Amino acid sequence: MFLNNLNTIQHNIAQAAGGRAVQLIAVSKNQSAEKIEAVLQAGQFVFGENRVQEAHTHWAHLKPHYPDLCLHLIGPLQSNKVAQAVALFDYIQTVDRPKIAAALAAEMQKQQRFLPCLVQVNVGAEPQKAGILPADTVSFVAQCRALGLDIQGLMCIPPFDQPPEDYFKQLAELAKAACAPVLSMGMSDDYVQAVAYGAHFVRVGSALFGERLN
Ligand SMILES: *Cc1c(COP(=O)(O)O)cnc(C)c1O
Repeated sequence: MFLNNLNTIQHNIAQAAGGRAVQLIAVSKNQSAEKIEAVLQAGQFVFGENRVQEAHTHWAHLKPHYPDLCLHLIGPLQSNKVAQAVALFDYIQTVDRPKIAAALAAEMQKQQRFLPCLVQVNVGAEPQKAGILPADTVSFVAQCRALGLDIQGLMCIPPFDQPPEDYFKQLAELAKAACAPVLSMGMSDDYVQAVAYGAHFVRVGSALFGERLN
């Protein structure tokens, strides 16, 4: 039964964390409603979604029934989805460019819903990946805060084809420099290493739910 994965992952996190608080984010993108509900019933209330529309389909009807639910946006946000994102999500992990920072700040004012945020850092400086370059991170965090965004920390997705440890270390150092200490890093293949390097949030999808649909 796939729910055994939840216990295993929680156990691995606790062991690597050595008493430090680390939050598992169950990444429910491309997973079935049945599996999502089973994980909820097992007492996991923190979930991550990549796309606003899919998140709405998965969660809009469940949210009113689960006051402890906390939904993290972990995928790129488009300007035309900002209003829906601010209404639905509880945490935005992917502030990745000035335009979206300004749109989020304005929309949070409008809805009077001030969500905690992370800045996404393109730690590998990969052209195809979203995120602020490491060298621009400290000034971008300051820019976001000047707009009124509550930037609590940094998020990254290291290059797939390299060991992640140096990138985790780099993100932790950048977070310190930016006075934005919360770290979201680590996925199915490397969440244990990420915790060892100081992650506060790990984002785990396939190791928890099994392979994604489609
Ligand atoms: C899909 C995704 C994850 C989860 O990936 P797994 O390898 O299935 O654990 C984590 N973070 C982000 C940003 C993702 O897009």
